Amino acid sequence: MTAQTDPIGAATAEALGPGDHALIDAAREAIARLYAENRHHIGAALRTRSGRIYTAVHLDTYVGRASVCAEAVAVGRALADGESEIDMIVSVRHPRPSEADRTIRIVSPCGICRELLADFARGCRVVVPGEEGAVAVPVDELLPRKYSVPKSRNPRQ
Ligand SMILES: [Zn+2]
Repeated sequence: MTAQTDPIGAATAEALGPGDHALIDAAREAIARLYAENRHHIGAALRTRSGRIYTAVHLDTYVGRASVCAEAVAVGRALADGESEIDMIVSVRHPRPSEADRTIRIVSPCGICRELLADFARGCRVVVPGEEGAVAVPVDELLPRKYSVPKSRNPRQ
């Protein structure tokens, strides 16, 4: 992988390989197939270190704070299958009907998902948009100075 400076932030970005593009395609396929206005407009796909791919869609609700991001659903699907080592994840956004640009574009995970991924997908790489195309960045670099408790009280460390 080629290291480059991520134009969006200070993260160390990696160029994507063919398998990574297949992961993006899986996310795009999931939301293209399951898009429903005000129900699902974000898709996600993750790849485990064992090579399995899990896709998911965002669950939009009338009460916004009850909504669940696609990344969380994908992580839950992997964990339910006994897969706890996540290598890479990507999220994509389907345009709404009123938007002229019909491209399903890669989106960065929201802050809540960055917390979730840092806890449940430690060490994974996240595909994010870059000025010259998508790049992969370590999840830890998307959430610097993450909330944590002292190591002595944190069962995850
Ligand atoms: Zn999110």
